[in-house]
Amino acid sequence: MTRGILPAAVLSLALAACLPLHGPAKMTLDFSIKPFPEHNALAITLIINHPPCADALRLYKQASAVSEIKCSDGRGNDMPWADRGGYLELTMRAAKSPVRIAYAAALGKPGRHGHAGAAYPDLVVFDGEHALLLPEAALSGSDSTIAARIARITVRCAVPADWTAIVPFPSAAVARGKATSVVTSPTFFAIYTLAKSCYAYGKFVEIPVAGSKATIAVDPAVRATCSGKFGRDVADLYAYYAKLFACEPAAFSLVLLRGDPADGMQIMGGVGAWGVANTLDPDRMRDWQLLSHRLFHAFFDSRMPLSIFHKKPQLWLYEGLATYYENVALQALPADVRATLGIDARESFAALCRQYLFMRLVDSTHYALAPMNEPAITSEAAIEFLHYTQAPLVVKLLEDQGCARFGGSDRILRFIMSNGRSLTSLEPLFSHAVTENRDEFGNQYLFGTALLPLWTLGTMREDRGKVIGRLNEFRHFMASLSPGEDADLSDAVGMEVLDCYAARARKEALHFADPVLERNVWELSPATSDLLLAQALIRADPMAARQCMDMRTEAHAVK
Ligand SMILES: [Zn+2]
Repeated sequence: MTRGILPAAVLSLALAACLPLHGPAKMTLDFSIKPFPEHNALAITLIINHPPCADALRLYKQASAVSEIKCSDGRGNDMPWADRGGYLELTMRAAKSPVRIAYAAALGKPGRHGHAGAAYPDLVVFDGEHALLLPEAALSGSDSTIAARIARITVRCAVPADWTAIVPFPSAAVARGKATSVVTSPTFFAIYTLAKSCYAYGKFVEIPVAGSKATIAVDPAVRATCSGKFGRDVADLYAYYAKLFACEPAAFSLVLLRGDPADGMQIMGGVGAWGVANTLDPDRMRDWQLLSHRLFHAFFDSRMPLSIFHKKPQLWLYEGLATYYENVALQALPADVRATLGIDARESFAALCRQYLFMRLVDSTHYALAPMNEPAITSEAAIEFLHYTQAPLVVKLLEDQGCARFGGSDRILRFIMSNGRSLTSLEPLFSHAVTENRDEFGNQYLFGTALLPLWTLGTMREDRGKVIGRLNEFRHFMASLSPGEDADLSDAVGMEVLDCYAARARKEALHFADPVLERNVWELSPATSDLLLAQALIRADPMAARQCMDMRTEAHAVK
């Protein structure tokens, strides 16, 4: 059949939204963004050409807070839509291409690492997750499925001509700094990058990072923070990662942002191979750890644009590596900075050990986790624990094991750099990384829930008050992620009653584990051991625990 003899009715249908003449046409998505500083929001128009041939078009909202949604088709007709389970669902009946979706995306939602994005009169910053509505086809398919359905995605933001733009996939058609993001034939990794990356626009003061292609782009509001010394310290950290990965991103910008003017909290604007945008206080160790972690992601994604590490059950290893190197890399900072901030990788790993042992032994129901069972873990607290406490310790154990046997370092990362593109699972990597008792190690610690043997990672001395404070703080943080999971949370034991609790528990011959394990925990960290004993007392003899609490109250009253 030729086009010439198609009945007129069929032709008119073919010209409607999505019925193609020669196979399904691929979608193009064009995002036009206009900042609205007075509402700390973005006004976004998304034009979709050749939407999929289906009854409904589903757009995933990601982390965005969208409102004022208006949808229309190529004839200018309004299109019905509904908000369903994280998706914006448009009814496509008889809709003509292109589909136009206008919406507002609120910025500034407070999160764990600060406010998510900001739109000010002189600065706009956000990540893709808080702005871009992406079609279901972009998120659920394999690379070939995505490429078969989507031809191109464009993101542009209307900002003054003299502003600099730091965005992912900058179009080569425009000069650096005036960039529009353009992705043709996107892969899963490209979609992931569009979602996680920073989009930062402003009149940044640009400072080159010595010995690299990178730039520190400073929000003029915090220009004083970025002294020459700070720039040199960042250069040392950057150089560590450039050496580790034996390359550096083609054009990376570290965007330093002001704190939120209303509450002083940090602003987080995204992480990707083209840039990292965040508020950073050079006098806070945690901020350096976060920067180090984000640089790892930027270098890894730049060197290895691989989908596999952004999907479960490989995600835990990706985050484990980032957290492992977050601590190792900080040793590259100058000695005076490390001394001032108290940076010490050995202590950082010891802190992770204490955190791991405490949560694991206090609540094995929720925190006895098999890493390779990651897809089945639904608790947010458990995923957080797996990614940032357990996984870096698995990496540490494997690295120490490999190093002891073969010397050298960075065996896991070097294997990924050499073989990453051909990896379809983690099995070959495990075969390489586990150097002793391979099957047993795998069965116990990768596919099983056995307690990690961390006994060499303790420190000689520990600050009892600090250790107890951090463990209680961590437990509260975990509980805040998954409210209701920690039944004993209200009984968290502070320093002022810990000795009494631990002494009573010993007197009553209570235990939190078998004698060998208890001994190991005590040798690694007496404070952790006492806190676990206190928890055993609370469970076994709440009256005795109450007496300790009352004695403390009386002692306070006497004072
Ligand atoms: Zn991470």
